Amino acid sequence: MSLVTAANAAYLVAALLFILSLAGLSKHETARRGLSFGIFGMGIALIATVVLVLDHQPAPIGIILMVVAVGVGAGIGLMRARSVQMTEMPELIALLHSFVGLAAVLVGWNGYLDPELHGELEGSLLGIHYAEVFIGVFIGAVTLTGSIVAYLKLSAKMKSAPLVLPGKNLINVAILVAFVVLTVWFIISPALWMLVVVTILALVLGWHLVASIGGGDMPVVVSMLNSYSGWAAAATGFLLGNDLLIVTGALVGSSGAYLSYIMCKAMNRSFISVIMGGFGIEASSGEGKDHGEHTEIDVDAAAEILANASSVIIAPGYGMAVAQAQYPVADLTQTLRDRGVDVRFAVHPVAGRLPGHMNVLLAEAKVPYDIVLELDEINDDFADTDVVLVIGANDTVNPDAAEDPGSPIAGMPVLHVWEAENVIVFKRSMAAGYAGVQNPLFFRANSDMLFGDAKDRVGEILTAVRERQGANA
Ligand code: NDP
Repeated sequence: MSLVTAANAAYLVAALLFILSLAGLSKHETARRGLSFGIFGMGIALIATVVLVLDHQPAPIGIILMVVAVGVGAGIGLMRARSVQMTEMPELIALLHSFVGLAAVLVGWNGYLDPELHGELEGSLLGIHYAEVFIGVFIGAVTLTGSIVAYLKLSAKMKSAPLVLPGKNLINVAILVAFVVLTVWFIISPALWMLVVVTILALVLGWHLVASIGGGDMPVVVSMLNSYSGWAAAATGFLLGNDLLIVTGALVGSSGAYLSYIMCKAMNRSFISVIMGGFGIEASSGEGKDHGEHTEIDVDAAAEILANASSVIIAPGYGMAVAQAQYPVADLTQTLRDRGVDVRFAVHPVAGRLPGHMNVLLAEAKVPYDIVLELDEINDDFADTDVVLVIGANDTVNPDAAEDPGSPIAGMPVLHVWEAENVIVFKRSMAAGYAGVQNPLFFRANSDMLFGDAKDRVGEILTAVRERQGANA
């Protein structure tokens, strides 16, 4: 068997390992195994690719270029992966998607400019080649700017509020129509100016689609861009004639699209509306409302309320991750449970900045799995609960989502924390959450604000509860 045949067979094995990896990643218990399959598959794919490239271009310059590229890429990747905070993961992922988009644009342009890539093609095969170039450049450029805007929004370098340009839907539809017309024209008579125009149009579309989406819908956008990056990779695979890239791109593209669909359903959003850049979503009517006065509570009073409670639900959010408060939260949970208090956690599907963020933090702090419940499992129990501790959560506990049809997050399921007898909100100020909307929960009669860093405040409450326990013993 020649080395090339072996490399192609290795691609098949790698593709199967990627499928096993995705299957493993779908459950907590098998996620680690899933990751191992993925790493193993990627290792095989890399070696097979090196073999194929060497076969195609045995000159030393090819080898040197490849070693340098892999070395630099792996070095930067390792450095970033080691230093990135968990809360910065979505923005890093968005940035990485933009690289996939850029690669697809460059490969597409190369496919047009390099005569070696289409010199021998004729008739319909040549037409297919030009279609691949054009579609690859389009998807890649949309992914590139869309991911850059997502990165800027997620890292708070750009406002998370949606951009509402006059006739925004018309802009998107016009660009899509222009793309379809130009694709047909380009296949018939491929001219450089058309490639330039489609690249510019796609860059504008990517930017506009994601800029038009409000903060609350960003989780769906991140998974959608993941899907786009997969399709961009598949398009690149067609151009390079690389089967594994086609299979992997299609896996990423379809799983990302399915994840976006599930997330849209979970958040009660229209899939079409989100992929069309907030199609049909009007500007908020809820801002500037007078919510009245909020009340504050201090650590001692909060400890007193907890000491008298028999049921407590903790609703964690992004602020718990920022403060790294999961450890004192876990200690407080244990202390209260030791006193016979029923303590449970309510985890919203998009709490934090990536799906499963809260589950990972709570598992890290060794909170037992069986007291960590999903929104659907616990939402009816708030009404029978003595105290809810909202720890660094905001949008995910906003009653406006359920009660104000004009709110930008209207219709998104939220934790009904306000139905409990007492709600204590841990945050540093009255500032809005990621979606940029004010939260009327903070002004309700049964809610009190406990200002300060969540880790410090929870730690102080823990000490106060333990002192009370000691005094009563
Ligand atoms: P939010 O972003 O709505 O609110 C977090 C709150 O934490 C802020 O209001 C902030 O208030 C507070 N906070 C920040 N740092 C601290 C600290 N050190 N101590 C105490 N409080 C702190 O978080 P949620 O988890 O409720 O909602 C997630 C939001 O993020 C949703 O809008 C969701 O759509 C979006 N999103 C989710 C993604 C996902 O996949 N899960 C991905 C991208 C976006 P203050 O500044 O006053 O302290």
